[in-house]
Amino acid sequence: MSLTQWLIDLEANQAETTENRRYLHAHPELSFQEKETAAFILKTLQGYGITDISTNVGNGYGMVATITGGQPGPTLALRADFDALAITEETDVAFVSKNVGVMHACGHDVHTAALLSVAKVLHHHRKSLKGNVVLIHQHAEEVLPGGAQSMVEAGALEGVDYVFGIHVASNLPKGKIGYAQSYATAAADSFEIKIQGKGGHAARPHQTVDSIMIASQIMTDLQTLVSRKVDPVDPVVLTFSGVEAGGTAYNIIADTAMIRGTIRTLDAQVRAFMKASLIRLAPHIAEIQGGTATVSYIDGYPSVKNTPAEVELLLKTMTGQFGEENVIKLPTMMGGEDFSYFLEEKPGAFFYVGGENNDIQANYPHHHPKFKIDEQSLHQSGQAFLALVAQYLL
Ligand code: MN
Repeated sequence: MSLTQWLIDLEANQAETTENRRYLHAHPELSFQEKETAAFILKTLQGYGITDISTNVGNGYGMVATITGGQPGPTLALRADFDALAITEETDVAFVSKNVGVMHACGHDVHTAALLSVAKVLHHHRKSLKGNVVLIHQHAEEVLPGGAQSMVEAGALEGVDYVFGIHVASNLPKGKIGYAQSYATAAADSFEIKIQGKGGHAARPHQTVDSIMIASQIMTDLQTLVSRKVDPVDPVVLTFSGVEAGGTAYNIIADTAMIRGTIRTLDAQVRAFMKASLIRLAPHIAEIQGGTATVSYIDGYPSVKNTPAEVELLLKTMTGQFGEENVIKLPTMMGGEDFSYFLEEKPGAFFYVGGENNDIQANYPHHHPKFKIDEQSLHQSGQAFLALVAQYLL
């Protein structure tokens, strides 16, 4: 059996793929609340005859299904996430969200429908597989702590040798496949520093501890971590995105101040260094001035780091399938993705499928109320998945 036959079968199933995607789009559910979505996925997989399915994997409605091949070989995992966002849809599509205030504004409906049809084709041709395929239908990608980490902890990758994930992209023209050589996304952490000084009269600073002065000093000193302590070839962003203090009158020295911000990194060691340094230094800087600083630090998702051999094979496979001119190397996207947890465990790659089409206004950013994606990306996602499976298991 050949990839050509799989692709013919996938194409013959296109109407159903589209119908599934539109059903999911019309019935979006928020992260950790995707009960009906999970039930739909389960029912669909069972309808195809797939029986090896684990439900409620991890901290939510995650699902893992296995298609066992007719011959021994490696196990390839394919992941699609299925949660939606708290956004009121403002598109003109006929299958607009029926759940007011909830919207598939990131394309996870596309990932899910594509993977379902891939499952159908592969289950039908399972005898010809030299190895197995694990389908990871993941809940809750959009909201911390996410579903991926808990699915990994629950054993979703047991026996898996390679893992691949896709994301459709409304900023990549339809027909194009995008990939990053190494880091696909950055780690995005956030923090809040609460400074306690001693308020008083603006005319008598010597009797006070000025929390605004401490906040300024913390911000200035911490920037030197980026400029003086991290290797310049390792990207780091330290942004103070909020400062709150005083301001009620001209003659009051602020008792407290609050600083908020984010740290974006690629390298895991640099990330750990930045976190530890911020937590250690902020209180010391405050102490020098006679105040205190308390740091609360929120770990976002780690960076998605593709492994070299799998990127190379992905590139070869996509170029062979879609032509060299349709495979585009992309810079690191600074948004977060919890696919990182899968790649921390197993080799693999995360890549993008273009769905931008200006003719139908499919060009709004992800997470926008008018987010739309050309459905060519739905079918190309399935083709890309099948091509990868053929590469590893035929
Ligand atoms: Mn997404």
